[in-house]
Amino acid sequence: MRAARLHAARDVRIDEVPTPEAGPGEVLVRVRAVAICPSDLRLYQDGHASGVVPDHPMIQGHEFSGEVAALGQGVGGPVVGTPVAIEPSWHCGECDVCLSGHENLCRNVIFPSFPQRDGALAEYIACPSFAVRALPESASFTEGALIEPLGVGIHAVRLSGAQHGYRIAILGAGTIGMCVMLALSARGVTQIALADPIAARREWPGELGASPLGASYEELLEAGVEADVVFECSGDNAAVEQAMRLARPAGRVIVVGIPHPDEVRFDSTVPRRRELTVTFSRRSRDTLDEAIDLIASGAVDLAALPVRQYALDQTAEAMEATAARPGDMLRAIVEPCTTGRHSG
Ligand SMILES: [Zn+2]
Ligand SMILES: [Zn+2]
Repeated sequence: MRAARLHAARDVRIDEVPTPEAGPGEVLVRVRAVAICPSDLRLYQDGHASGVVPDHPMIQGHEFSGEVAALGQGVGGPVVGTPVAIEPSWHCGECDVCLSGHENLCRNVIFPSFPQRDGALAEYIACPSFAVRALPESASFTEGALIEPLGVGIHAVRLSGAQHGYRIAILGAGTIGMCVMLALSARGVTQIALADPIAARREWPGELGASPLGASYEELLEAGVEADVVFECSGDNAAVEQAMRLARPAGRVIVVGIPHPDEVRFDSTVPRRRELTVTFSRRSRDTLDEAIDLIASGAVDLAALPVRQYALDQTAEAMEATAARPGDMLRAIVEPCTTGRHSG
């Protein structure tokens, strides 16, 4: 099969590699859409993922959808040809952390695209059947690929305990910020302030049917925003302190973005005097069914998120477009197999 493999920083090549097989308990997925995540970009640009260096040319991509190509031994469905979404955090189910209910923090977790496990920027990928669900009839493959970031948003919102009546601030109007907003809206939360330095990005919620107060961080601070929960979704390491400054006394900060660079500094006076609870959110945990229900019921419409489509041999372009953070694109979508049902 054809695969986009990262040989070194910014060196992606289309290589012919062996097609994986569906092993026992696995589903072979023919990949139809892969959304490029800023976390993919780190490995693409730096050649390592927070210090973990690939030991082989890596296939990237973890936000993906496709159709069932084959079922491994012991797997009863979904039937071959079914469009599916995949949660890419593959836990062991047996370690102490899994048994305590924190499967996303599994000591033996496999995350395709994080070294050394290959990801989905290829024509096929084998996935454990517990991580695979049929897509709702109405959903495109692009929406299927965006179910993973929606799961990240759902997980962060669950951690926050936010519900109707809460005042919320979100830093960063990227895909994760939008997915947090959508997950909040689905829970009946309406008082949302959203900060992003790029003005065009502050227009997106309107297209998603939401109407948060959109502004820059400085404007929200000046306006005296005091949120019950602040979600840091920008990945800017300075934004962790900004999030604290927007929280009310005894409020909560959920850090969803991956701070870049990794080291975060903040004035401890702010969280100390306000007795803030700061929680770091990690990927997603058992969010697939809720995400699919939200899409199937129409409570969440991922089709409204602005994307651009690329073929597999344009993977480098998709990465560079993601790096440029244009105002008119939330995710670059790579389509490894483009025949049949359209992903758009
Ligand atoms: Zn991601
Ligand atoms: Zn485990």
